[in-house]
Amino acid sequence: MWIAPWCLAASSTSVARPRFSYPVAGNTTSPQLPEPSLFSRNMERTFIAVKPDGVQRGLCGEIIKRFETRGFKLVAAKFMQASEDHMKNHYLDLKDTPFYAGLCKYMSSGPVFAMVWEGQNIVKLARMMLGETNPADSKPGSIRGDLCINIGRNIVHGSDTVDNAKTEIGLWFKAEEFVAYTPCAQAFLYE
Ligand code: UDP
Ligand code: MG
Repeated sequence: MWIAPWCLAASSTSVARPRFSYPVAGNTTSPQLPEPSLFSRNMERTFIAVKPDGVQRGLCGEIIKRFETRGFKLVAAKFMQASEDHMKNHYLDLKDTPFYAGLCKYMSSGPVFAMVWEGQNIVKLARMMLGETNPADSKPGSIRGDLCINIGRNIVHGSDTVDNAKTEIGLWFKAEEFVAYTPCAQAFLYE
């Protein structure tokens, strides 16, 4: 029986991994293929936006790079200026906070780079990549921990839950703005 080299490598480590074997030539029973869920489990999309301060400071490329190099897949993007009403809608859950009005005004004051990224557990992982809401509490290595200082100028937005991600994606993007493709690295990112 031929065994793929990457299966042998996996068996020599102590990491517990879901295993599968390739079909043996002449085997008439159903091949034991990886469960579809091994790839698709927790596949999510999240809404990420470079805020006006991030755009003005020339940080779009750096923020995109963080998501690209992590292995996430960009599925939609646009450079735009949002209206104040749009931002009021986006931040509706914060309407009773003292910073709501200023936040919506600021977020609509200049261009933003709006994106949808896709990947396994991306909603949670993207929030970890962003760091804390207050850059002062964000660890070095996180986007906010590396690139900004002030809570009101924290350069990037990321959806905080899977449900909010769906709502925000629907608010910012139309179905026809998504691009379907398979990244060539996909088989090297997910087993
Ligand atoms: N914000 C602020 N002052 C605060 C808290 C939040 O200006 O005391 C801004 C900040 O830019 C933050 C945004 O409001 O990113 C949305 O707040 P949220 O609590 O949703 O934080 P986030 O999800 O962006 O980390
Ligand atoms: Mg939030």
